[in-house]
Amino acid sequence: MKSVAIIGAGPAGLMAAEVLSQNAVHVDVYDSMPSVGRKFLMAGKSGLNLTYSEPFKQFVERYGSRRKWIEPMLKEFGANELRAWAQELGIETFIGTSGRVFPVNMKASPLLRAWLKRLQSNGVTIHTRHRWIGWNEDQALRFKTVDGEILVKADAVILALGGGSWRRLGSDGAWVSWLEQAGVKVEALKPSNCGFDVAWSSHFKEKFQGHPLKSVVLSFESFRQQGEFVITKHGVEGSLIYACSASIRDAIAAQGTTNIQLDLAPNLMRDDVLKKLSKPRGSKTMASHLEKMVGIKGVKAGLLREFLSKDDFASGASVERLTDAIKNLSVPLIAPRPLDEAISSAGGILFEELDEHLMLKKIPGVFCAGEMLDWEAPTGGYLLTACFASGRVAGQGVLKWLSTS
Ligand SMILES: Cc1cc2nc3c(=O)[nH]c(=O)nc-3n(C[C@H](O)[C@H](O)[C@H](O)COP(=O)(O)OP(=O)(O)OC[C@H]3O[C@@H](n4cnc5c(N)ncnc54)[C@H](O)[C@@H]3O)c2cc1C
Repeated sequence: MKSVAIIGAGPAGLMAAEVLSQNAVHVDVYDSMPSVGRKFLMAGKSGLNLTYSEPFKQFVERYGSRRKWIEPMLKEFGANELRAWAQELGIETFIGTSGRVFPVNMKASPLLRAWLKRLQSNGVTIHTRHRWIGWNEDQALRFKTVDGEILVKADAVILALGGGSWRRLGSDGAWVSWLEQAGVKVEALKPSNCGFDVAWSSHFKEKFQGHPLKSVVLSFESFRQQGEFVITKHGVEGSLIYACSASIRDAIAAQGTTNIQLDLAPNLMRDDVLKKLSKPRGSKTMASHLEKMVGIKGVKAGLLREFLSKDDFASGASVERLTDAIKNLSVPLIAPRPLDEAISSAGGILFEELDEHLMLKKIPGVFCAGEMLDWEAPTGGYLLTACFASGRVAGQGVLKWLSTS
């Protein structure tokens, strides 16, 4: 029987194992961590967003310039197939009000448990605490284990090593240099779905870190969306920021810094704000006038104070300027937070290095899948869906390759 080594037991590697295990091949899965699927389990901590419910045409647009590579994979295994697959494992899913799809119990662990049970009963062997450290001169795979280094030869290999965020969960991007040494072109890993640094004053930072900014509209280039995010001691993070983090990151890389625009009162037209704030405030402070007239208080008022001069905020020297700030506050972002803190990675193995079965053109018999490929997508289940889909393509590619080699 032919043997396949899969390195990396995240969603992509395990999906490749599933495809292979349904065929007459011997499958060994290796992972450096003491247990498998740690990032997948972490994804389930705040509600496992498996995929997104929307027409396929819109779904594939989330992959931006990498759409042409990802779309064929999603045609084979997209949101509907993923939901059906979860159901087969006994995990019902539902569509949340936002269109995001979750398991009914929101968690990743029951799904992973059922999945591992099925893989093991299909004959897949999982080797934990096996850290892949590249190839030796005979092209054998080198693994660091608790018993020292071991060498493994297989008829085909699938690398599903993940990106470089949240290193403590196992994917640390160390593979980049081994693949580059083998002549494979890799786009440097960058933070994706990440927060950004803002030079907050110490007063603002102390008072508002951890505060959510709810119901604001964020505009950046062509992006305009209502949502929420959180003030952190370093700057800003959260779903609304992640949704446009790729373009913010790229703008900062090109220009040094950039600004996002916030509408702090999205339910009021500018003229209404102006009219309300122009009413006499008597002996009231500007803070209580703002709260009473336009409902701006707490962290939203704090942001105005942070970016307006004392004259414009406290004494209301110019109601026009105050209104402009409420409807279109410019917040300067200095740098993306480090890759380790990001939800996912951009960059990775260039698609040009792979054939349509995700086999490395320069290393025949070695396939790649998941977040280690050069694509990115916003949160919303798009990450997991493409990881699963690419794992399937790599698994099927190996079967085809083994049948002809
Ligand atoms: C906090 C958080 C929440 C998230 N929530 C969601 C969500 O709700 N929805 C969504 O779609 N996505 C979410 N994601 C992203 C999603 O989890 C990842 O995109 C996905 O897990 C990537 O799958 P993968 O199989 O490519 O890599 P990974 O899941 O990273 O798996 C790679 C595996 O390879 C192993 N490995 C790495 N290097 C080596 C080596 N040298 N030797 C041996 N083994 C190695 C690692 O230990 C790991 O087990 C979230 C991510 C984070 C951090």
